[in-house]
Amino acid sequence: MSNQLLNFIGGTWTRSSTSLYLDVINPATAQAMTTVPLSPGAEVDAAVNKAAEAFVEWRRTPAGERIQYLFKLKGLMEEHRDELARIITNECGKTYNESIGELQRGIENVEVACGIPMLMQGYNNEDIARGIDEHMIRQPLGVVAAITPFNFPAMIPFWFLPYAVATGNCFILKPSEKVPMASQRAFELIEQAGFPPGVLQLVNGGKETVDALLDHPAVRAISFVGSTPVAKYIYSRATANGKRAQCQGGAKNPVVVMPDADMDMTTRIMADSAFGCAGQRCLAASVAITIGSAQDAFIERIADAAASRKVGYGLDDGIEMGPVIDSNSKTRIEGLIGQGAEEGAKLVVDGRNKTVNGYEDGYFVFPTVLDHVPPKGEIAKTEIFGPVLSVMRAGDVDEAIQMVNDRTFGNMACIFTSSGAAARKFRYEADAGNIGVNIGVAAPIAYFPFSGWNESFFGDLHGQGHHSVEFYTQTKVVIERWPREWSRQF
Ligand code: NAD
Repeated sequence: MSNQLLNFIGGTWTRSSTSLYLDVINPATAQAMTTVPLSPGAEVDAAVNKAAEAFVEWRRTPAGERIQYLFKLKGLMEEHRDELARIITNECGKTYNESIGELQRGIENVEVACGIPMLMQGYNNEDIARGIDEHMIRQPLGVVAAITPFNFPAMIPFWFLPYAVATGNCFILKPSEKVPMASQRAFELIEQAGFPPGVLQLVNGGKETVDALLDHPAVRAISFVGSTPVAKYIYSRATANGKRAQCQGGAKNPVVVMPDADMDMTTRIMADSAFGCAGQRCLAASVAITIGSAQDAFIERIADAAASRKVGYGLDDGIEMGPVIDSNSKTRIEGLIGQGAEEGAKLVVDGRNKTVNGYEDGYFVFPTVLDHVPPKGEIAKTEIFGPVLSVMRAGDVDEAIQMVNDRTFGNMACIFTSSGAAARKFRYEADAGNIGVNIGVAAPIAYFPFSGWNESFFGDLHGQGHHSVEFYTQTKVVIERWPREWSRQF
């Protein structure tokens, strides 16, 4: 990759006019790999104009033709799976297997969007009154954009991109400036797939670039994934400017462990959920609420799993967990672990101040387990976004559900149990949009909506599945009268 990443505007790779570039750093080595431009508003303007021009023909292109480009893209993503996964690991830190897994989830969204000719069908009734028919059809919005976070560089853009263009819109991506390399490579594949110029565009940047998208009158819809404060900001500015917005925010996901759970299976799955991707998943289990006799059995096993997890550079053999994204993140996470201990939690496994041989400069925080975390303390509420599991205790399932619901986020809540009645009660009463039963990361597959609630989501229609089709289309209702006597002329 060159030492300056480019934007992809109007079907051409262009160098940004800005003098502001950030280093893109491999978090395992702390070495810069390339630089990314913080594109000015004028470049957003250029991309939006190209998208608006392209929209005229793209919306007239039959859906069956539009998806042929997506079929090609899917093939190219599969062909370049290994290369893309290595880029993800190098810029984001996760292990190679985790990168392959995330890529697969991205590809699955392309597959689902290939069904758009059926998914975007409307409906109709003949004779809503004598001789009058009524139809509902779906039409695309025009120019739409997505702003994405650092933790899934090749999956999250694909929660939006395939549905947006399959339904006939033209789409602009502003990827995270921390992990722009996977998007750069994906857009080279998009170029190879042959999408007409302006249908899919990439503009790198930071806040100024985002604000230009939020304020541009021709941008009709904004999809966002990132932290809750930024999600709130984007939602309010986009909607104040009359745009549709779907903004997915942060999380703090509780998992209830019942005494009747299969404890070996539970701890294995929980360790993957809490420490996989170094805890930098919006669906990571970050709080375990143990009940009764589950407590000691769980702590003992999860402490073993945490202490034995192999931490290192994600492309090395046998590595189970990589670094966190940057030095600020490492400092913040280690500070929060310390704060947890000060608030009275017991540090069962302490992942601070550790290094990996050969990668001494890398931003590694090792798996950490805090027990007896006070439910009302700061550490119980704050999103840590690192490999830290906070354990709390409850007397019974009612108290546990109360603890689950006594929080501001609502991305995911899970229960581990062999009781159908407890599972049903939990599914029914837990205040979160994605529920897992004996599942550690309840990530909806591409044909289901990614249903965050409360402070984890701002908007009405979520990413993926039918919600995406509705988000990226506007309904038009047509009522027709064709008097029978007119047919007698022929
Ligand atoms: P972030 O909010 O810092 O950044 C996300 C995007 O917003 C980036 O593209 C960034 O350039 C842009 N941005 C940042 N600050 C901005 C500002 N002030 N004005 C305009 N744009 C701004 O998030 P992150 O650190 O990249 O990602 C981690 C967060 O994302 C965590 O909170 C995690 O829970 C959340 N997340 C949520 C989901 C979900 O589905 N709910 C999925 C993945 C990640």
